[in-house]
Amino acid sequence: MDHFFPHDLRKCDADKPINGVANLVLACIDCNRGVNGKFAKLPSLPLLERLHARNEYLITSHHPLRETLIVQTGNSTEKRQKFLQDAYNCSITHYGIHQKWQPAQQGIATF
Ligand SMILES: [Zn+2]
Repeated sequence: MDHFFPHDLRKCDADKPINGVANLVLACIDCNRGVNGKFAKLPSLPLLERLHARNEYLITSHHPLRETLIVQTGNSTEKRQKFLQDAYNCSITHYGIHQKWQPAQQGIATF
């Protein structure tokens, strides 16, 4: 398990649910703690789009995390997109566009 937006996002907005399910993703050992692992870097824009697709999938399903995601990120697709975009913009001001992280794809992407 890894945080999509790094813990330091709290510098931007202390109210962001950084440990909330909307910001948590499954990660292999290499991505989480490997030589070219993510650590406190900001993931690439395509990965942000995949996170949004993953969250929307869970919200439009009967998944038990549905209600938690809505409470933490908004009750409409537009609000949830804005939630992620705000966090992304905020992160860029602290980490810089040059630090975006994108691992080599392994296997088939679900989202
Ligand atoms: Zn990985």
